[in-house]
Formats: sequence, C-alpha cells, structure tokens
Amino acid sequence: MNNQTQSLYSQIPAVDRLLNLPEMDGLLCEYGQHLVAESLRNLQQQARQEIGQHNRLPAWCQDWATAVKNDLSQRQRSGLQPVFNLSGTVLHTNLGRALLAEAAIEQVASVMRNAVTLEYDLDGAGRGHRDNVISDLLCELTGAEAACIVNNNAAAVMLMLAAVAAGKEVVVSRGELVEIGGAFRVPDVMRQAGCQLVEVGTTNRTHLADYRDAVSEQTGLLMKVHTSNYHIEGFTAAVNEETLVTLGRELGVPVATDLGSGSLIDLQQYGLPAEPMPQNLIASGVDLVTFSGDKLLGGPQAGIILGSKYWIEKIQRHPLKRALRAGKLTLAALEATLRLYQQPDRLAASLPTLRLLSRDKSEMQVMASQLITPLQQRYGEQFAVSIEPCLSQIGSGSLPVDRLPSYALTFAPMDGRGRTLEALAEKWRGLAKPVIGRIQDGKLWLDLRCLEDQDALLEGLLA
Ligand SMILES: *Cc1c(COP(=O)(O)O)cnc(C)c1O
Repeated sequence: MNNQTQSLYSQIPAVDRLLNLPEMDGLLCEYGQHLVAESLRNLQQQARQEIGQHNRLPAWCQDWATAVKNDLSQRQRSGLQPVFNLSGTVLHTNLGRALLAEAAIEQVASVMRNAVTLEYDLDGAGRGHRDNVISDLLCELTGAEAACIVNNNAAAVMLMLAAVAAGKEVVVSRGELVEIGGAFRVPDVMRQAGCQLVEVGTTNRTHLADYRDAVSEQTGLLMKVHTSNYHIEGFTAAVNEETLVTLGRELGVPVATDLGSGSLIDLQQYGLPAEPMPQNLIASGVDLVTFSGDKLLGGPQAGIILGSKYWIEKIQRHPLKRALRAGKLTLAALEATLRLYQQPDRLAASLPTLRLLSRDKSEMQVMASQLITPLQQRYGEQFAVSIEPCLSQIGSGSLPVDRLPSYALTFAPMDGRGRTLEALAEKWRGLAKPVIGRIQDGKLWLDLRCLEDQDALLEGLLA
C-alpha cells in the first residue's frame, strides 16, 4: 500500500469522533445512538471500498452527517411506500387495490387503539361472534340469510368448497375454469379443498343437459365462476344461475357462484360497465355467493361468502374458518365501508373506488391542462410533453375490454430512445412519493384518473 492510499484511509474518522460531531445531534435525537452508529460503520465500509477500488475518498466524506441522514432515511423507508397510481388501472392488485373511505380509515384507527367487542356480547343480542355485525349489514344489503367473512376471496372459495363439497364432485363448465393470476386456478383450488372437479360442456358452449348428465350420487355442488378477466365471444352458450338453481333444486344439489368482484350497486347508473350483483344471484336462489372486499366493493382485502343459513353455518363450523378468519382491522374497515352502501345516493362521493371510476374525462382534462405548463418547462428539453386522451381500466379482474375514457400527460423522448424513457420512469419511481405511470407506444403515460392531489404530484415531478 503506498503512502497516498494510506493517508486516504487515515482520513476516515473513528465512529466515536463522528458521533460527537455537533451536526450529529439532530440525527441522534431522531434515530438514536444504535442506528446512527450502525449507519456510520456501513458508510466507513463503503468509503474503504472506494479507496480500495478507485484510490480516492468518496465526495460525501466531506459531510458525514448528511451521508448518515440520506442513508438512514433511505433504509427506514417503509416497505409499503405510498405512491401516485397513475398507471391507468384503478383497482391495481400490485398497488394494493381499493383505497379505503375516510369512514373506514377512522374506524380502523379506533379499533387499533381500543379493546373492542370483537367476540363479546354486550347486550345479549347475539353479537358474540366476530362476523355477526357484518353479516347483519350484508344480509340487509343483499337479502342473503347469512354471511361469513375471511381474509380474501381466494380463501372464501377454498373454504366454501371444503365445507360444502370435500370428498365430493363439483361440476363446473369448461368455459369457466378461470386462472385469476398468482396461483389461483379453479382446478387447483378444487384439489386443495379436497373436491373432485367435473368439467362439463366445451370452452365456448355449455348447456343445461351437460350439467344434468354430470350429476350423480357423488355430486356435492354445481358451481359457476364469473369469467372476470376474459371474454368468450361468438358462438357461445352458458347456463345462467336461475336455470342452474332450478336443476339443483330438482336434483337436491346446492349451487354456488364465485363472482370475484361483484358490485353491490348497479354500476350502469354511473355510466360504467355492468357487473353482476350478489343480491341478484341471491334473489335467483343461488345457495352461496363469494366475492372480494377490495375489488369493486371498495373496502379492505377480505372474502365474503353470502348464502343460506344452513350452508353458512356449516362453513362457519369448518376448521379452516378458524385459519382463514378476518382480524379486527379488516372487520372494522369492512363494516364502515358497507355502512356507506346504506346511503347509496352519497356513495359516489364517499367511496373512493366509485369516485375514481365514475370521474368524467373532462375532470382529468382540466387537471392535465393545469399541470402541463410547469411540466413542459421542467422536462421540455428532453421530452415532448402532451395531453392525450386514453382509456383507464377498472382492474382486478373486471373485464379488460371495458375501458373508461380518461386523459393522460404523455412524455415522448426527443431522441426517440427507449432508454431515455426507462430512465425517466426509473427517476420517478425513485421520488419521495414515487410516481407510477405506464410505458406504451414509445411514451410514458400518466393517466390522471386516480390523481387527487395535483399540488403534491407537481412538487414531486418538479423536484
Ligand atoms: C379476484 C378473484 C378471485 C380471488 O379474489 P382475491 O380477493 O384476490 O383473493 C377469485 N375468483 C375470481 C373470479 C376473481 O375474480
């Protein structure tokens, strides 16, 4: 090691000395001795590496306090970082799906701070079961006799199958053997629940006779699965729930539907594509309906099973229910969300999911026109910044063909290079509140449908 290198190493101060610098006081106050000392040791290690590799001290050695501050704020960042979802998909599974209503947020905060009557009967009114409050609400909203709440809809389907038809055959149309994404595929879930899948019909056409012919002594359930993320068009036929219920009654076999998303209100009144409604299925006599809490319902991640008293009691008693039951935070958020549905005329304002989905494109156009000038000033040298019409998606397994007209700010690199575009997307992903857009047709698109705080976005993008 030559003298020069040696003198570089000796310019790295000892941790004790660095800790005693007056400019460290604020950091020690905020993060404590342990974290600051650990960060200093890491930084020293980095500095030694830099000397070893490049024979120089890193520039930040001029100011250890700032280096520690940056290091700690980076490492203390939550793994669940809030972002701007400008991807154009409202219920984005990778971004946490539905934003909760303020009422739900308050309710969750309250049950986190307090002991609550989760399974405690205050007045002898039979509330000693954790699902009861929500069951009552769900029954009022949907006309179902009873309900069961679990952690997500995949769990709801699994539990329903295990409780109703384990060791038996479950009849499903070949057109409805859905894969939702992740590891949720109807045939796999069947197997895990201990049921034997019996496929009937063909990919495009399934008739009532197909179901009838498949039913035997071994049949435990006739099941329909909402083909939420694809669409079969052309020469098609399917048996609706009402018809299947008639067959089920005749043969003494229960009928279930996995709706996936489902909507408790008629979305068409907001100019949105129609989604099947659980209450309509209950009215047509379906024994059990399952759907998600954090898709179109706009609540927390949860799975809801609606149905007859007889079957729901069987489901509640199944040992898997104990493993899949929802916690008090979920139940509190779900209850508060469902209460909003008791005032349907206010729902478009009170429920963020519906508010974002039902936004008129003119609203996004106005925001775009307010944002474009400062963004052109900031990015105009490298990018052509424009306002363009685009189509948002509902997401989370709502029909991908149903798109919602919106407006986006688009950034097209002047040099036409994909790498310039990638660099911009990466830069924005690295912001204090990352901005998530979508790259398409050689441009970065910021669909403004889910933007609620324009000033904060602008502050981030101009930083
Ligand atoms: C989304 C979906 C599921 C899974 O629901 P999660 O709440 O994500 O667990 C199951 N079935 C269908 C048809 C779906 O669309």
